[in-house]
Amino acid sequence: MSDSGFLKPDAALPYCKGCGHAHVLRAIDAALDALELPARDLCVVTDIGCVGLADAQIDRPHTVHTTHGRSTAFATGIALADAVLGAGRLKTLVMIGDGGSMIGLNHLVFAASINADVTVVVHNNFLFGMTGGQHSAFSPMGFVTATTREGNRVPPLDLGALLAAARAPFVARAFATDGELPSILRRAIAHPGFAVVEVLELCTAHGSRRNPLGASRMKEIVAEAGYALGVLRDEERPHPLERAAEESAEEGGAPAAVATFTAKLDRRYGVVLAGTAGERVQSAATSLAKAALACGLHVSQKNDNPITQGSGFSLSELILSPHPIDYTGIETPDAVLVASDDGARELARSGTFSRCGEGTLVLADEGVALPNVAGDVRRAPLRAGAGAKGAAAAAVLWWVELTGAIDRAAVRG
Ligand code: SF4
Repeated sequence: MSDSGFLKPDAALPYCKGCGHAHVLRAIDAALDALELPARDLCVVTDIGCVGLADAQIDRPHTVHTTHGRSTAFATGIALADAVLGAGRLKTLVMIGDGGSMIGLNHLVFAASINADVTVVVHNNFLFGMTGGQHSAFSPMGFVTATTREGNRVPPLDLGALLAAARAPFVARAFATDGELPSILRRAIAHPGFAVVEVLELCTAHGSRRNPLGASRMKEIVAEAGYALGVLRDEERPHPLERAAEESAEEGGAPAAVATFTAKLDRRYGVVLAGTAGERVQSAATSLAKAALACGLHVSQKNDNPITQGSGFSLSELILSPHPIDYTGIETPDAVLVASDDGARELARSGTFSRCGEGTLVLADEGVALPNVAGDVRRAPLRAGAGAKGAAAAAVLWWVELTGAIDRAAVRG
């Protein structure tokens, strides 16, 4: 049973029997229990690989699952955004394997260099487990993997030494079965700034199937690689943003944001704007976001488009609110603005149309094919009147005119 809200009370860890990941998850859970960190103040960022299978077992903290090797970059962005825009109290915890650490090595180096408030737990089982047991940059000398059948001939990277050279203020290394691991993790998570804990562990499906990996052999591997164990560095150094804040305070502080225009909006309001890539859909949404900010509202904007960028749909989700926005999802949209058939198809595919309610205002170009949509559906010749590249902006202006939610002059300004 977890007090921290990290692991679900009935967590069923989805790993092979004997997998080191289970030890690490339980050690993190124990560390968080000891820290009594509120779940809402923790953001867990996981990577691709078996390590990411933990997602489904995490209970109450914020969670982000990222692309392979990029978890530390996402976490760095989250930590910086929290420091600048939020309360600065979010603790960001990365769970990444040795494969992901190899792929995204520079993200770790950069996070260490700028001293981002991120704790990185590297689950180092010396290989890529999920994809079939290929070697990584952290495979020991002589280690047999799916891609080093005769034994690895390249010396493993010493991650602790590498990140210490990047001036990481907290560096530790331990075995997954080490009884000290929860307290090392607790110190790392509590550390104000970048911390890395490299946990040496077994992949029973691939590592110990091809290599004799008992406890004594693991110690030999550590000795042969010249790895030090335990907490290797524990220092404090200022974060660049702290220095910037101090300099700003010395200069009288940053000027407070001033609302130039007014808004009638008295509640959180979700707008979805959809059209065709290359037709300035996201630019129109950004104009609306900036106008809402100028009216003193809080705003979030999420953009989406296919990987091809210049073809298919383009979509933006905006939340406008007189109150801080803690959740950026839109369950039932208050308004859906449809500038083209590409946009309509994506709204149908993603289920946005089916989530519309009786109170949803749907503003669509007159030529767009719409499915049956709940709400107040209105049509206008957006494309004929404003052209393909002006249709989204015309939809935004139409929405402003109809709702009066924000000062129209703010959009023009
Ligand atoms: S494949 Fe290896 S790393 Fe993945 S769950 Fe099984 S033992 Fe663990």
